[in-house]
Amino acid sequence: MKICIYPGSFDPVTNGHYDIIKRSAQLFDKVIVAVGQNSSKKTVFSTEERVQFIKKVTEHLPNVEVESFSGLLVDFVKEKRANVIVKGLRAVSDFEYEFQMASMNHKLAPNIETIFMMTSIKYSYLSSSIVREVGRLGGCIQSLVPEVILEDIQEKLRP
Ligand code: ADP
Repeated sequence: MKICIYPGSFDPVTNGHYDIIKRSAQLFDKVIVAVGQNSSKKTVFSTEERVQFIKKVTEHLPNVEVESFSGLLVDFVKEKRANVIVKGLRAVSDFEYEFQMASMNHKLAPNIETIFMMTSIKYSYLSSSIVREVGRLGGCIQSLVPEVILEDIQEKLRP
């Protein structure tokens, strides 16, 4: 069984993330979306909220699971008996950081492979931080996040 882990902060999950989840679910037997509980990174949405949003959005995808994790990503990957980490790549600006992370994870766990999926062009400008910013300023985020969680997100971000 081919299992991949798709990690991130998902603060909140966007249409760009959802696109990567759907495409991964077609390539792997199981996708585990791993929501980081990184205490040094302050998030707007709680871990529980971030997990629940993704669960709601992926409800109809039978081979997608959602969990939170803390500590080293490679340890979580091993615990889940997976050996692939999936990451999305938007622009050149993502490359340096992702290259560094993938290299370090490879050093820590040589049997775990990181694979990159190019973002769909229409989501290449999209990030959780832009959603938070537009939402906080009262702008429309309708085409940026999945419809089923739109209201919950708007509610929390609204000024
Ligand atoms: P963000 O950078 O939006 O805060 P995360 O840290 O939650 O997102 O990112 C988790 C993963 O999803 C990363 O691999 C990131 O590159 C990828 N990702 C984020 N936004 C998009 C997008 N619009 N299209 C494709 N991949 C994306």
